[in-house]
Amino acid sequence: MRDDSLASLRLMPSVARPEQVFVRGQGSWLWDSEGRAYLDFTQGWAVNSLGHSPRVVVEALQRQAERLLNPGAAYYHPGLLKLAGRLCEATGSDQAYFVSSGAEACEGAIKLARKWGQRHREGAFTIVTARHSFHGRTLGAMSASGKPAFQQLFEPKLPGFEKVPYNDLEALAQAIDAHTVAVMLEPVQGEAGVIPATLDYLQGVERLCRSRGVLLILDEVQTGIGRCGALLAEELYGVRADIVTLGKGLGGGVPLAAVLARGNACCQEPGEQGGTHHGNALMLAAGLAVLKTVLEPGFLEQVRELGEHLRDGLALLARRHGQGPLRGHGLLCGLPLQRLSAPAVARAALEEGLLVNAPQPHVLRFSPALTVSHANIDEMLRRLERALLRVSLTRQREALASA
Ligand SMILES: *Cc1c(COP(=O)(O)O)cnc(C)c1O
Repeated sequence: MRDDSLASLRLMPSVARPEQVFVRGQGSWLWDSEGRAYLDFTQGWAVNSLGHSPRVVVEALQRQAERLLNPGAAYYHPGLLKLAGRLCEATGSDQAYFVSSGAEACEGAIKLARKWGQRHREGAFTIVTARHSFHGRTLGAMSASGKPAFQQLFEPKLPGFEKVPYNDLEALAQAIDAHTVAVMLEPVQGEAGVIPATLDYLQGVERLCRSRGVLLILDEVQTGIGRCGALLAEELYGVRADIVTLGKGLGGGVPLAAVLARGNACCQEPGEQGGTHHGNALMLAAGLAVLKTVLEPGFLEQVRELGEHLRDGLALLARRHGQGPLRGHGLLCGLPLQRLSAPAVARAALEEGLLVNAPQPHVLRFSPALTVSHANIDEMLRRLERALLRVSLTRQREALASA
């Protein structure tokens, strides 16, 4: 046990953590306090989009920290104007608003939609969301989420959300009525176990929103900023939302998120939304460095190519072990496990020096750095295979023992 194991008792329980204490990271690798190296295919739940401590982000933070940490949310600074301009230009959006977390971005989108409803839809405020969706852990974002574990927590929730099955256009069509102001969906349901929208579904959702006169909000906190092989996942589907939320990968490892709005969804007025750290100069410097990197010629092409390499390797491994089928886009992959527990495989992987995450009891999620190498992927596959074998063996032994 670590010397400071008692110190962890001073932390309010939240997520269950393994006992390793991580002290250093570089690219796809993390090192613990004992000097052991781990290949990281989680990257902080997909936030370290360029890997651990990428040079461009570190240098941008250094430069900004020396010049100006933050003038305060009530003043302009160059990064604020630059990132708003570049992000809007690159995504075909009209306005951007910067916050610190994905949950806050989703709150911002919900508020913007409600404002739009007051202005353009006679005060309608209901937002249709999907079962098993995840939009964050503030009370409003939890209320919007369809994660079953949230249902009983912290009641009463914020009213005004209606949940429908995902990838079911008929159910969505029936849920939209005069009280509806928007439909809010993830292009790929990440927490639910990496479940992509089908092409027909998301295109149908957009058509439905247009014909019924409600807004389409896409939560791209997990899928955006190159994760799926395009700057936004909506591009893969040929769909354009009215409001897009970004987070996770946008900051490249620092807390930065954004709400993007298009057309008449740009209805926010002064005083309606705000926050002490919204548009923080230090965080925006990181965001600028990430966006510049992701938009460099060939970068997204490379993400798609790496995604194929990852998927091919995982699919082969999955077939050998009777697992799968694989899901996802680009460098966001989900591997459904038949019979094996995903948390058990993730724990065995940790023993093998590999970080993967289990968003569901029977699904592993892979969200490596967008800059991961072929060699990293191949090494991950070897470590994962050893972890799968370990867990299968344990399972067989237990089955024999109880027979
Ligand atoms: C992670 C996530 C969020 C919440 O982001 P936080 O930064 O954890 O608040 C919201 N939506 C989606 C789709 C996410 O994956």
